[in-house]
Amino acid sequence: MKVAMFRYNPSEEPYMKAWEEKTGDTLVRIKGNLSMKNVDQAKGCDAMCTKQSINITDEAIYRRLHEFGIKQISMRSVGFNTVDWKLIKKYHFIVTNTPAYSPRAIAENGLTQVMFLLRKTGYFRELAKKGDFSRPANLVSDEIYHKTVGIIGLGHIGTASAQIYSALGAKVIGYDPVYNESIESFVKHVSLDTVFHESDIITIHTPLDESTKNMIGMNEFKKMKNSVIFCNQARGGCVVTQDLINALKDHEIAGAALDVLADEGSYYGLKVDRKDLPEDYLELEKMPNVIMTPHSAYFTATAVRNMINTSLIDIRRILEGKKPHNLVLEP
Ligand code: NAD
Repeated sequence: MKVAMFRYNPSEEPYMKAWEEKTGDTLVRIKGNLSMKNVDQAKGCDAMCTKQSINITDEAIYRRLHEFGIKQISMRSVGFNTVDWKLIKKYHFIVTNTPAYSPRAIAENGLTQVMFLLRKTGYFRELAKKGDFSRPANLVSDEIYHKTVGIIGLGHIGTASAQIYSALGAKVIGYDPVYNESIESFVKHVSLDTVFHESDIITIHTPLDESTKNMIGMNEFKKMKNSVIFCNQARGGCVVTQDLINALKDHEIAGAALDVLADEGSYYGLKVDRKDLPEDYLELEKMPNVIMTPHSAYFTATAVRNMINTSLIDIRRILEGKKPHNLVLEP
C-alpha cells in the first residue's frame, strides 16, 4: 500500500523506514499539517495518515481526498477533534486514532517534573547560578515514599502514573467518575474533594471536554494543601492559567509541573521568537518552583514508533475490508 503521511517529522524516520522494509509499503513523507497547500501530494496514495495540530476545516480538503479514492482519515495521535464531523460524514470517511501509544511516556514525564520540584532542584539551580552553594534551611526537601499522590483521571495515563508512584512507595489516591476495580491494589478511589484536601502531589490526566474545561481554578487551588505540587500533563484548558499563576504567587500551592498550557497553540511544535511567547508562559517560566516542557511528554522512541505502527496496522485492516482496532467513526 502507498500511504500519504502528513505532518512528517524526522524523528519518525527510523520507524517509517523499518515499516517500509518489513512490509514493502511506500510511505510518502509530507511536511506540515494536512491542508489545501499539501493535500494534492496524497494523489496516487491508497490511504492517508496525519497527526494534526490544526483543524481540517476546508471542505475542499475532504473532497480532494475523496476524489483520490481515499476512504479513511487515520490519526497517529490520541486526539481526533481536528476533523469536521459533518464533512467526515458527507464524504463517508472512516476515522481511526491511536489511543494509547505509550501511557508510560506521559506518566514518566510527570514523575520527572514532580521529582524536580519535590527536591527543590529549581531553587538550588538558581542559587548556584549566583555562586551560592549553601544549603538554606528552607530548601530541605522530602522523599516520595512519604507522600500522598492524588490522581485526577484514572484512564491509561492516570493508571500508569498510579503504578509508578505506588512502586516508589507513595500512598496513591485517585478520582475518576468511572470506577475501575482492577486498579484498587495500587490506587484508592476517593472523591475529588478528598484528592484536593489530602494530596501532597496532584496530577491531572483527564481529556479536555465540557466536564473538565477549567476544572482547576482558584476555588480548587484553595482546597489544596499550601505545600502541594500540582502537575498537569493532560491539556492546558483543564486549568485556569491565571488562577494557577496567582495560586503560585499567593503561596496557595508550592509548585507546578506543566507539559501543557491553554494557549500553547501559538508555539506548539514551532520555533518562535521569544517576544511572541504568551505572557503567562513567560511569567511561569521565571518561577523556580515551576517546571515546563513544551507538550513533549509523549515524545519517546516507544511512543513515536507505536503511533506509526498502530495507525498503519489499522490502515491496512481498512484496505483489506476488516474492522480497524481503533475505530472512532465509520460511515
Ligand atoms: P483515557 O481516556 O484513557 O483516560 C481519561 C480518564 O479521565 C478516563 O478514565 C475518564 O473516565 C476520566 N475522566 C473523564 N472526565 C473526568 C472528570 N471530569 N474528572 C475525572 N476524571 C475524568 O485517556 P489517557 O490516554 O489516559 O489520556 C488522558 C489525557 O492525557 C488525554 O485526553 C490527553 O488530553 C492527555 N495527553 C497528553 C499528552 C502529552 O503529551 N502531554 C499525550 C497524550 C495524552
